[in-house]
Formats: sequence, structure tokens, C-alpha cells
Amino acid sequence: MTAAEIDHFRRRLLAMRRRLGADVSELADEALRPVGGEASGNLSDVPIHLADLASGSDEEEITLDLMENEGRIMSEIDDALERIEQGTFGRCENCHEEIPRERLEAVPYTRYCIRCARELQAEADR
Ligand SMILES: [Zn+2]
Repeated sequence: MTAAEIDHFRRRLLAMRRRLGADVSELADEALRPVGGEASGNLSDVPIHLADLASGSDEEEITLDLMENEGRIMSEIDDALERIEQGTFGRCENCHEEIPRERLEAVPYTRYCIRCARELQAEADR
């Protein structure tokens, strides 16, 4: 991989990281904001509508799920940036072949070529 290509992927990773960082902190604000009168400790202020409570907790669960995913991608991006520094970026960590350019364009933070990713996924599912 040429220096220009490395630079291209570094820029893409940094841009993804910035965007995810913004999303995650916004989501965290939403998910962790106290609901109704809970924060004041005055239970009589809390409106009890079971339907509202149910839909509210569903949404919260989805938001937290999303955060977990984005947090995981964020650490993958950090690892990829680390690999750029170490000069191992773009090489499959499993078979040490070069990862095809198209795959890196689609998933710049990937650590495996498609063949290994499939094999590892199949193993994880077993
Ligand atoms: Zn591989």
C-alpha cells in the first residue's frame, strides 16, 4: 500500500471516528437523562401510564444497544489507526495476506480479509 493510500484511509478513519464520537455522546445524554419526577425523588410527580412506561423502556434498550455497537466500532477504528502507525494496516491479521482495496473502502477498520472474516464468523456462530 502506498503512502497516499495509507493517508486516504487514515483520513477516512478519523472522519468516521469524529462522527461516531458525536453520535455516542448525544445518545448517552438521551439514555441517561432521568425520566419524569424520578430525579427529584418525589414519587407522586411520576405519572403512571403503563403503556408509556413500556414504550419508554423499549426505546432506552434500543438506544443502549446502538451505543454498544458504536462503542465497539469506535475501538475497532482506534485499533486500525494504531495499525497505520505500526505499518501493519491493510494486512489480514489471520492469514497475513493483503486485504483487497474494495473491502477496505467498504470497511476501513476491518482487520481480516473476507475469507478469514467468514471463517471466523462461522466459528463464532458454531
Ligand atoms: Zn485473511
